[in-house]
Amino acid sequence: MSTPHTAVPDAAPAAEEFAKLEQRMALVACGVRDGKTQACDSHQRKGPVLLRIASTGAVDALAMAICGSEHRGWCTACVEKATEIIRIYNEGTQ
Ligand SMILES: [Zn+2]
Ligand SMILES: [Zn+2]
Repeated sequence: MSTPHTAVPDAAPAAEEFAKLEQRMALVACGVRDGKTQACDSHQRKGPVLLRIASTGAVDALAMAICGSEHRGWCTACVEKATEIIRIYNEGTQ
């Protein structure tokens, strides 16, 4: 079973690593809880976006992406999540 990826810019050699990072980022964005190992569908879909923004290091843009349209701008909880996601990115790409 293959999942066609339509938006793959310059196929990175570490595609699998990035996929794992996306999952971790999606889970952080969704909210980490005991016994929860996967983000919900809507946050999983945001994984690639989170990864792309994390690569720019822009915490505020990332927080806004996590917050979505639920808030005006972003909130403290989402800034914390954004900071964590950037940490995951830096850790995963070193
Ligand atoms: Zn979620
Ligand atoms: Zn928020």
